[in-house]
This record gives sequence, C-alpha cells and structure tokens, in this order.
Amino acid sequence: MNKLTELSNKNSNWSKWKWHIKNRLKSIEFLEYIGIISQSLKEKFKLLLKRYHFATTPYYFSLCKRLDYTDPIFRQIIPSIEEIEFNLPGSNPDPLAEEKYSVTPHLIHRYPDRVLIVTTNFCASYCRHCNRKRFWSEKPWVLSKRELEQIIFYIKTNKHIREVILSGGDPFFINQSYLEYILSRIRRIKTVEVIRIGTRVPVVLPMKITPILGKMLKRYRPIWINTHFNHPQEITKETEKAADILSLHGIAMANQTVLLKGVNDDLNTLAQLFTSLERMLIKPYYLFHCDSVSGTDHFRTSIEKGIELISALEGKIGGLCIPKFVVDLPNGAGKAPCGPNFLEKIDGDIAIFKTWEGKKFVYKGAQGAT
Ligand SMILES: *Cc1c(COP(=O)(O)O)cnc(C)c1O
Ligand code: SF4
Repeated sequence: MNKLTELSNKNSNWSKWKWHIKNRLKSIEFLEYIGIISQSLKEKFKLLLKRYHFATTPYYFSLCKRLDYTDPIFRQIIPSIEEIEFNLPGSNPDPLAEEKYSVTPHLIHRYPDRVLIVTTNFCASYCRHCNRKRFWSEKPWVLSKRELEQIIFYIKTNKHIREVILSGGDPFFINQSYLEYILSRIRRIKTVEVIRIGTRVPVVLPMKITPILGKMLKRYRPIWINTHFNHPQEITKETEKAADILSLHGIAMANQTVLLKGVNDDLNTLAQLFTSLERMLIKPYYLFHCDSVSGTDHFRTSIEKGIELISALEGKIGGLCIPKFVVDLPNGAGKAPCGPNFLEKIDGDIAIFKTWEGKKFVYKGAQGAT
C-alpha cells in the first residue's frame, strides 16, 4: 500500500466530524512522513511552523491525488518554505488594514451598510493562502460575550448597517449553542436585514453540516453562507450532501474562490469548479486576486491572468456560474471589480463591442431615447 492510500484509508469514524477534529494532521513528524522535509530543511521548517502553523482534517487531506505541491489540495494545506523565503514587494501581514478599520475589538466596518465580525481565529484546516495569517500565532480564541455586547451596541447605534457578516477563522467551529446565541443577538436588532456567514467547513469538513445545524440556522433566516471552494477536486459526495442540507433549510449560498497560482489558475479548472457550484445551488460570487499578505506571495498570479481567465469564461458557461473578479485593494480601499470588459468604446450613437467569441460588433443606437 502506498502512503497516499494508507493515509486516506477510511475507517468507521469517517462520517463523524468530531473524529476528524480529534485526529487532525498537524505534526512535523507527519510532514516528515509524507516526505517534504529533508534533513537539511528541518531547521527551516521548524521556523516556518512557528510562524505559520499547520493543521488539516484527515477528510480534506484524503482529497489529495498526489503527495506533492502540484496537487491542488496538497498545495493549499501543506506548508512550503516559500512562505518564509519568497517575498514580493508590498506584501505585509494586514494589507487590507483590517486593524485600522476595526471600530471595536473584532468588528471591521469598511462599507456603510455592512460590517464584518471576526468571531474566532480557529480553523480545522489552515489554508496556506489565508489572508488572516496574522492571527495564526495567537492562541485559539473565540469572541467573548463582553466583546459581542460591544459589537451589538455598535450595530444598534448605526442604523445604516443592514448586513452583518460572521467571519474568522471559521464561525462553524464555535460551539453550536454559542453560535446560536450570537445569531439570536444579531437577529434581534431591527435594522439588520441579512446575516452572512463565511465558512470553509463545507469544503474541509462537510460532515459537520448536519440537519441539526441546518435547523438551527433556519431559525435566524435570511442567512447567506459564503463558502470557499477553490478546486473541483474539493467537490465530493460529502460536500454535495452538505450543500443539500443547507439549501433544504432555506439557506442561500455563494462562493468566494481565491485565484491561486498552481492550484486553479487555469480555464478548465475554473469552468469545472463554477459549473459544479451552480449545480449545488452555490452561486459563484467572487474570484479574488490573491491579497498581498506576507507568507502567501508564491500563490499570487498577475492581475492580467485573472482578467484573462474571467473574460474567457464569458459565454462559454452560464452567467449564473461566473463570479466577479475582484482585487481587494490595499489599505482598506475596498474591493475593485476588474473586467471582463466587452465594451470597447462609445462614439456618439455607435458603441463598439467585442462578442464572447472575440468578434467585433458595431451597435447602433447607443444613446437610447434622446
Ligand atoms: C469584503 C468585505 C465585506 C463584504 O463585501 P461584499 O462586497 O458585500 O461581499 C464587508 N466588510 C469587509 C471588511 C470586507 O472585507
Ligand atoms: S478557512 Fe479562511 S480563515 Fe481559515 S485558514 Fe482558510 S482562508 Fe484562513
């Protein structure tokens, strides 16, 4: 039996999420076992793990098809020396200036009508491209009741806030009764219309999405869940079931993909991912240019690459399958959508378009009713 089949050997506990949490893969010995740490690299790896720890679930690891960095799952979870040795100019631990925009501890208020709560720094599986890597070195924490009260007070006194986003870390690893308490406190604020939860649980531990969780969430609708699928290899029987449970409980779903070099910077991969998500009733929402976060630079493609990919999808797959390609601008300037642009110019009553097949199209009557 080779290492991969051995490690992916499913036991009778496979469908139990608690087993996966208890048996998370997180040791340096494991990394040695899978053969990525040579003797000469051992000291460097220790340094790397001290700065950016490693942990993943047996379930998510079992989705690897190869035990090297060319595998899209492996590349997202297995630490690489590049995280400490490869730096592009301009990257820093908090490029989106989330600390600057924090109005009370763990509450980020960047846009007028919506706020984001960083509910915890814990995740079952740590993505090497995470844009909140700055929290990883802190001990696991969850928003305290006192901090929550301060947040509730802030939201109540800002009547413009109509949407509250629970982010992290992963909010679905907060103890379910405390998560319900948080949801119920937010739901009681009259001015809040929508609650959004950003989570990677449907991807890295789909068995945690149970009908019990679905039923609990249903009580606090309207809820949108933002998932984080990056590659079609992440779509399994288990993830399909998780998506089904959520949609059957009236939860709307959207997905945020991060464009990652060597993982999904390829047209067929994205087309397959986005069409699968549509089938699972998860709307592909954003394709993010990888942020300039220290320790993730080796994942960043060019912005042109993102525009090229998103433009090439237009017309080939349905509009419901195509997300917006955005760059989250440094210093908290906000998200900037970039392309595709099929309108080349407008000259008086004539507009020049490019069709999805790349042909020039002359449109007359661009000024409309005058
Ligand atoms: C991305 C983000 C949001 C949500 O923006 P949408 O465009 O509505 O998805 C809200 N607050 C902060 C701080 C964000 O980074
Ligand atoms: S699930 Fe989200 S917060 Fe957690 S490590 Fe991945 S990107 Fe970061």
